[in-house]
Amino acid sequence: MKAARILAYNKPLVFEDIPVPDIQPDEVLVKVAACGMCRSDVLLVDGFFQGYGDIPPPVIPGHEITGTIEKIGSAVAKAAGIEEGDHVVVAPGWGDGTCRHCQVGNTQICANVRWPGFGTYGGFAEYIPVPARYVIKVAKHLKFEELAPLTDAGLTPYRALKKMRDAGGLGPDRVIGIFGVGGLGAYAVQYAKLLGAGATVVAFARNLDKLTVAKKYGADHIISVKDKSAPDVGKELKKATGQDKLDAIMDCVGAPEMMQMGFALLAISGHYADVGFVGDRIDVPLFPRVSGEQTFHGSFWGNNADLSEVMALATAGKIQHTIKTIGFEEINEYLDLLRDNQVVGRAVVTF
Ligand SMILES: [Zn+2]
Repeated sequence: MKAARILAYNKPLVFEDIPVPDIQPDEVLVKVAACGMCRSDVLLVDGFFQGYGDIPPPVIPGHEITGTIEKIGSAVAKAAGIEEGDHVVVAPGWGDGTCRHCQVGNTQICANVRWPGFGTYGGFAEYIPVPARYVIKVAKHLKFEELAPLTDAGLTPYRALKKMRDAGGLGPDRVIGIFGVGGLGAYAVQYAKLLGAGATVVAFARNLDKLTVAKKYGADHIISVKDKSAPDVGKELKKATGQDKLDAIMDCVGAPEMMQMGFALLAISGHYADVGFVGDRIDVPLFPRVSGEQTFHGSFWGNNADLSEVMALATAGKIQHTIKTIGFEEINEYLDLLRDNQVVGRAVVTF
């Protein structure tokens, strides 16, 4: 099969022909139809995750995977309801199934988790073996290029917004800020409208094209943060919404300077959810966090239940996409564009 692999970190991917993988009895073989390209792929290629544990090459990146069932392992129960030819999305975060996080369904935070696209097999190849319990069957009329990003870009902000909603951080008298309108933020704006219980949604980014996308997807207000201080942005926020602080922040980027701005703008009893880690460290004053009883939510990807909910929204036609489909040979070029923050919406490799 065709595969684009990391043979050495900090180098372009190498295009190779390698054997189609065998499957274990509890796995299925998915023929990849589309795979989204994520900023995390760039971090992986650049060796960022090597600081948190060794991922020895060769590695096939690509973790936003959708396709068709090609083959089913001998131990996969008929009751799983999977048949050859079914269209599926691949749920990320393959837990060991035994720890307390797995037991309550949060397999993506299992200490023994495995990830598609962060090891031997990933979505930048024609086939991938997947444990049968991590595929979710989808309706055949849904477009593969739109399904692929829903397994990360369209999943991760969904989980984070649910956390803030469940913590009581959203409501009609609140203002929520969406930080960054790249692949994730374009979905985050829509989910903030769907899950925000009437909260006013304000999108913040540096790039005007991206802010235009946010407006199109229902942001009540858009504010450019380019070359602006936190007090400047606070003034614009007050003009737009009547308040100069944010009750909730959905940060899709995790860039240190923007996080510092975010914490400076966070209201009393505010909630800050971050899913991005473009930077690795932040430095913020502690006293306002304590005296204002603010809450920080780390939120990591999503579990099967979150993805099933996202699929229900997609099936109901309630999610809009900004997709740029690209060819397999263009992967390296798009990794460079992602690194430079030049991709509006989601680039999706189609096979
Ligand atoms: Zn586990």
